[in-house]
Amino acid sequence: MGDTKERSGFCVWPDARQLCLGKGLLYGFMRLFSIPLKTLRGASRSLRVNQFCSVVNLSSSLQIELVPCLRDNYAYLLHDVDTGTVGVVDPSEAAPIIDALSKKDLNLTYIMNTNHHPDHTGGNAELKERYGAKVIGSEIDKERIPGIDIYLSDGDNWMFAGHEVHILATPGHTEGHVSFYFPGSGAIFTGDTLFSLSCGKLLEGTPKQMLSSLKRIMSLPDDTSIYCGHEYTSSNSKFALSIEPENKELQSYAAHVANLRNKGLPTIPTTVKVEKACNPFLRTWSMEIRQKLNIATTADDAEALGVIQQAKDNF
Ligand SMILES: [Zn+2]
Repeated sequence: MGDTKERSGFCVWPDARQLCLGKGLLYGFMRLFSIPLKTLRGASRSLRVNQFCSVVNLSSSLQIELVPCLRDNYAYLLHDVDTGTVGVVDPSEAAPIIDALSKKDLNLTYIMNTNHHPDHTGGNAELKERYGAKVIGSEIDKERIPGIDIYLSDGDNWMFAGHEVHILATPGHTEGHVSFYFPGSGAIFTGDTLFSLSCGKLLEGTPKQMLSSLKRIMSLPDDTSIYCGHEYTSSNSKFALSIEPENKELQSYAAHVANLRNKGLPTIPTTVKVEKACNPFLRTWSMEIRQKLNIATTADDAEALGVIQQAKDNF
């Protein structure tokens, strides 16, 4: 994509060295290395995100660092620089988190899990043992999240080093799935509920539940940054374009995504605004999508979401 300026309220990378978020501030920096992510424990790694270091100031004292894990997972380190409090969201494995912490000589205070699946909790036990970190997750999953210490439920307000965190129940992918929303920083961690240009598979929930979870996330301010659990955006864009080819904003975003991925850069965070304009699972009302997938005009949004999900599974 040639246009690299701020577009529709969200910011893209002007070049591979600058990381920029909306709200008109240059928050952080990104350093790129051409070497691929190093192999850990002898496992072959095919993650297409080059090793990089990105730190973004979410607010005056809260920084976030994206940590690629496994094949296409993202964990996120949250660092309150005033108090030294550090949290990690969805550590699928311990080693990359330990690496990231060691580089900055940081301890780990909290482990926050959006859902119980191993690709979000696989690092819990080792990190908890090494750092004495407290594990936070949904009360519904207290039997399934390894090492859980603090149970939270929908509507709870939890404090992370003075930063308010709203717990939003966002079931659909799993029954106890939660999203962590930081209203003061305008950021939400959506795990496997909302991805850029898609949503999680309905393993423990119904289309109706997923629709209502997605609607809750979409009710947040348009410039909210969305940090999800996986780098799926490129393949998602192909499916999205196949069912809504005339959507100009989608065309433009897909080109931007392809450009980022060609450079080995993450497409995350996305924003509420971008997803509303481009994500087919949030566009169940689109006549173009309904015509492509033979969804009756009388079908409700949950029914349409179910059909879109099925079509994506078969794509
Ligand atoms: Zn996952």
